[in-house]
Amino acid sequence: MKITEHYQKSVENKQATFSIEILPPVKGQNIQHIFNTLDPLVEKKPAFIDVTYHREEYVYKKHPNGLLERKSVRKRPGTVAICAAIQNHYKIDAVPHIICGGFDKEDTENALIELNFLGIDNLLVLRGDPIKTETTFIPEPNGHRYASELLEQIVNLNQGKYLDDELQNSCKTDFCIGVAGYPEKHFEAPNFNIDLQYLKKKVDLGADYIVTQMFFDNQKFYEFVDKCRKIGIEVPIIPGLKPITTQSQITALPKTFHVDLPDDLANELIKAKDNKEIREIGLEWTIQQSLDLLKNGVPILHYYTMSKSDSIQKILEKVF
Ligand SMILES: Cc1cc2nc3c(=O)[nH]c(=O)nc-3n(C[C@H](O)[C@H](O)[C@H](O)COP(=O)(O)OP(=O)(O)OC[C@H]3O[C@@H](n4cnc5c(N)ncnc54)[C@H](O)[C@@H]3O)c2cc1C
Repeated sequence: MKITEHYQKSVENKQATFSIEILPPVKGQNIQHIFNTLDPLVEKKPAFIDVTYHREEYVYKKHPNGLLERKSVRKRPGTVAICAAIQNHYKIDAVPHIICGGFDKEDTENALIELNFLGIDNLLVLRGDPIKTETTFIPEPNGHRYASELLEQIVNLNQGKYLDDELQNSCKTDFCIGVAGYPEKHFEAPNFNIDLQYLKKKVDLGADYIVTQMFFDNQKFYEFVDKCRKIGIEVPIIPGLKPITTQSQITALPKTFHVDLPDDLANELIKAKDNKEIREIGLEWTIQQSLDLLKNGVPILHYYTMSKSDSIQKILEKVF
């Protein structure tokens, strides 16, 4: 089923549901690692499961002669295969994240063809972050600079337009396309309204739904949805939620994801004496956020698991 159909079903049946996002395991682990994470969560019947995509990073290896060798390494490969395994094993729709970084248009087309052959017809389309050792995002030669450009390529494929325009009798794909939205603005955008205009551009080009960056203040989500609706963004907007579970996340999440912790939450977390207390506060906050979103009629909640099932399992028990 398409994500938009899951959304519609949830609205029509007045039965809210949820989805989760997982990461591929670090290289060296096997698929059982994924199943161990998902087993306790699928009991609650998620509508769909997203799998993130992690591009290469550069690592430096020191040789005995003192010279440094720069190596390109993908620490978490396997996104597409994990999606196929999830669909096979659980019969739940899997959504691979597909990014601009590291792909030229030909690589992208080939990846889309593989996804199509595997029966994966939902995507979350993103630009991707810059490589860790680089300060700005650098597209591949003949690659895409913005998610909107990648999205256009997918929309073209959905219309049977491949890169080689001399292809005869080419089949159309049928991808349902999600994009990212930022209730607190994408960190590179000069201001909120300009960021919103670029989001609208993605929707105007054919995005079917939006999943938001995590946020800790529901008011910011409601205002974001209002502003989107006012400028004519009418597709489903699915809120992304993540519980804070460790002390380091109190500073790491704002730094990494460019989000604010509201005063009430930050003050409680700062006073907590250990990680156990922080986790209790974090889980309770996400539970209350979830209940409030449901009370306000949001049909699907999207949980970032960071591949740890126990916290999300506890939240789901209280919310669904
Ligand atoms: C739900 C979600 C899932 C994610 N999953 C992954 C993942 O699996 N792997 C990964 O690497 N990253 C992931 N990310 C992170 C994401 O790749 C980064 O936030 C990235 O920096 C921006 O991606 P985007 O798709 O929003 O980019 P874009 O929509 O391309 O926007 C990037 C920036 O460019 C601006 N912009 C857009 N279009 C234009 C234009 N035409 N001209 C000028 N400026 C423009 C925007 O305002 C924004 O500031 C995820 C983020 C979210 C919210």
